[in-house]
Amino acid sequence: MSTDTAPIPFVDLQAQRARIADRLEPAMARVLEHGRFIMGPEVIELEAELARFCGVAEVVSCSSGTDALLMPLMAWGIGPGDAVLVPSFTFVATAEVVAMLGATPVAVDVREDTFGIDPELLPAAIEAARALGLAPRALIAVDLFGLPVDYERLGAFCTAEGLHLLADAAQSFGGELGNRRVGALAPVTATSFFPAKPLGCYGDGGAIMTDDADFAATLRSIRVHGQGSDKYDNVRLGLNGRLDTLQAAVLLAKLEVLEDELAARRRIAARYADGLGDVVVVPEEPAGRRSGWGVYTIRTERRDALQAHLSAAGVPSMIYYLKPVHRQTAYRDHPWGAAELPVSDALADSVLSLPMHPYVSDAQLDRIIGAIRGFHGR
Ligand SMILES: *Cc1c(COP(=O)(O)O)cnc(C)c1O
Repeated sequence: MSTDTAPIPFVDLQAQRARIADRLEPAMARVLEHGRFIMGPEVIELEAELARFCGVAEVVSCSSGTDALLMPLMAWGIGPGDAVLVPSFTFVATAEVVAMLGATPVAVDVREDTFGIDPELLPAAIEAARALGLAPRALIAVDLFGLPVDYERLGAFCTAEGLHLLADAAQSFGGELGNRRVGALAPVTATSFFPAKPLGCYGDGGAIMTDDADFAATLRSIRVHGQGSDKYDNVRLGLNGRLDTLQAAVLLAKLEVLEDELAARRRIAARYADGLGDVVVVPEEPAGRRSGWGVYTIRTERRDALQAHLSAAGVPSMIYYLKPVHRQTAYRDHPWGAAELPVSDALADSVLSLPMHPYVSDAQLDRIIGAIRGFHGR
């Protein structure tokens, strides 16, 4: 097959597997050998390695990014009568965990340039929550597509308002703000190890990062059915929320090449920006913020026609997100039904995500960029 017509993968997990097979396969075989599939030694080692990577005191691994969002809310005792501020332009899990606990997600619009929650709109969101008779308790900030939000500003706001701040870093693992890494930017950070995320395993997985040892102890209790110091005594409601030992072994092997993979993502993002910046709106990193480039998302008013053109040229693309959370069927009768979220609605019509993973080749980049320029007659 000629390289100019071979299909381009959107995310290429097999290229990564070929690169790390010599450490990955023995690591998985060791788990099969020792047989400690639940909370085995690899889980403990992974938590220590992740803490070192992020520069935090405590990492609590768990069964998914969704549970990594749910568990801190449970630890804070969030429930009926409480409001949690969430961006309206995000993956549905960000709002779902709030609703799951009987609390009310209050949607806040995002900024068009960074895709992050708009800090200017937070005071009005607090007022809207109070007008519904709810107690504002927390804010979940999402580092959408990999770019850390302005945690300094959001942190100050949350402190002033007495809100817990939870970072949804499912797409931004490896990103940075100043000289600190994602995981250390908010008091509590949730991330996901879903296979397509910047650090992904071979199934579902997630982790919570914090410097607060007492909070981490509560999360560890919630992770195993709310167990107390004695495993036959359950002191609170919890989950079966553990990360499998096999997945921890996979993640340890992948962590060894993560630094290099993040550099590759940055190189690819720079090539896209150079090649496309004059024909579509390319994502930018505000001063001091470094994206983890979990997803590469451009904006264009001719999105649907461009996507059809790319598809005909064998270039895959995805729309994250065609339906913002406030447009999802499950939330139709939610109090935010009447809310105006114009930026989220506009983004839903104009975003297009391009292949982004550390192994996009130069030839593939030339093809993708060429196809987009060709569509614009440039
Ligand atoms: C992927 C993702 C999640 C959920 O992670 P899972 O591991 O799939 O449960 C939550 N929030 C955002 C922004 C995500 O991209």
